[in-house]
Amino acid sequence: MNSIKGNYERLNEKLTKACQKSNRRREDITVIAVTKYVSVERANEAIELGIRNLGENRDQEFLKKYEVLGNRAKWHFIGTLQTRKVKNIIDKIEYIHSLDRLSLAKEINKRAGRTISCFVQVNVSGENSKHGLRPDEVIPFIEQLKDYPNIKVVGLMTMAPHIDDETVLRNCFRSLKRLQKEVQQLQLPYAPCTELSMGMSNDFEIAVEEGATYIRIGSALVGE
Ligand SMILES: *Cc1c(COP(=O)(O)O)cnc(C)c1O
Repeated sequence: MNSIKGNYERLNEKLTKACQKSNRRREDITVIAVTKYVSVERANEAIELGIRNLGENRDQEFLKKYEVLGNRAKWHFIGTLQTRKVKNIIDKIEYIHSLDRLSLAKEINKRAGRTISCFVQVNVSGENSKHGLRPDEVIPFIEQLKDYPNIKVVGLMTMAPHIDDETVLRNCFRSLKRLQKEVQQLQLPYAPCTELSMGMSNDFEIAVEEGATYIRIGSALVGE
């Protein structure tokens, strides 16, 4: 397996280039190391390199890592979250990237003793295999979240199709950006929607060029 240090250097070089190309600042983009494929030791190595944001997509695996690493990392829950699992993780995480239904919002609101920063997950590409709301469902959904004071909609999240066609990827990220602007125009106090969680190992440069503020990197950073 490649060293995380080398991977991180390569990632940062590419990020810097993507920022230059799109006139953005590197510090406006947060790298989340997705540690779901790797060991606690490897996740710890990432923390020691100064990577503070870690992402997991399953509650059991997350809790295993949290037991050892605890609050040395800011934890992002990036996977489909079953409603009954919320209570196990809610006081240990900073961000949920997969808010996609009211039943989940209700449970988060009930179990959280504080405001939780959430991304509403959007299925921009319309693939059946993907979770998330259809673009046209996003605004009505967010409007309904006013009843859940512990939920703050910090942004939108999407997973692009797993392909190499740059035009398709770019359009996907652009659509999410457009939708973000629509949400911002609502000026809802609980939905500032300033962030965009988009871009993974194979498409983060395009995502950054199109406005990503959080990129979720697994295989190209900590390994698969
Ligand atoms: C696994 C995963 C990632 C990271 O994927 P890589 O292609 O390995 O970078 C990002 N986001 C989500 C939601 C994931 O499940």
